[in-house]
Amino acid sequence: MKIDQKLSNFVNQIAVDAGEEILKIYKKPFTSKMKKDKSPVTKADLIANDLICKRLQSINPKIQIISEEGKKKFSKKTNIFWLVDPLDGTKEFIKKNGEFTVNIALIKNCRPIYGVIYLPVKKEIYFTQNKSAYFSIIDHKNSYKTKKKIKVKKRTGINNRVLLLSRSHSRNIKLSKKHFKTDKAIFSGSSIKFCLIASGKGNIYPRLGTTMEWDTAAGHAILNAAGGSVTTLDRKVLKYGKKGFKNPSFIARS
Ligand SMILES: [Mg+2]
Repeated sequence: MKIDQKLSNFVNQIAVDAGEEILKIYKKPFTSKMKKDKSPVTKADLIANDLICKRLQSINPKIQIISEEGKKKFSKKTNIFWLVDPLDGTKEFIKKNGEFTVNIALIKNCRPIYGVIYLPVKKEIYFTQNKSAYFSIIDHKNSYKTKKKIKVKKRTGINNRVLLLSRSHSRNIKLSKKHFKTDKAIFSGSSIKFCLIASGKGNIYPRLGTTMEWDTAAGHAILNAAGGSVTTLDRKVLKYGKKGFKNPSFIARS
């Protein structure tokens, strides 16, 4: 399967529609539950997952879907699969700070070859198309009037680079600033950090500890297409389809 413009538009629309379903729940009172891995889940995660999985299946039922809220195992060996985080930043969603996203990626031969990230509160969409990365605001007719190509901005030299740090996991702020020789940092929730680097607003996002592949796949695809990279600490490209879909520590760069 190849991701052409038509298919990319179709999958982008799935992310937007899932985001709109999430917003309906966001605007009313809702409750959350703790999962076995001690991360929270809400009705919004599950409704968005349902919508995304059904519509991805309609494209080609043979392509398997691995999702944070769905299947976490291949039913048979494959070199191509969807990776979905229907609601990334559930903690931010519960805190009502707006910093949550819908993430869909296509993995082929262990690499993310397409990705879309949608921010429902701001109606911002980041996605890949024909090997480039794009940003747009979705207006009420779901059109892409503001669509523009995005590129990373390289900054070198002491204190020129901007760090991206997680809102919910920033225990090592001082260490990170010292290690990367900069004082400038932006704090942000969920996969938005990848989008900020891809659009030239930041430069380095170090993430120590375990993350899951669905947390990074769409952002990784977008950052690659914008000219950046995501590597392990020993500078190897982060690959997908690993055991348990677990990522090691990584650094995303412009
Ligand atoms: Mg999630």
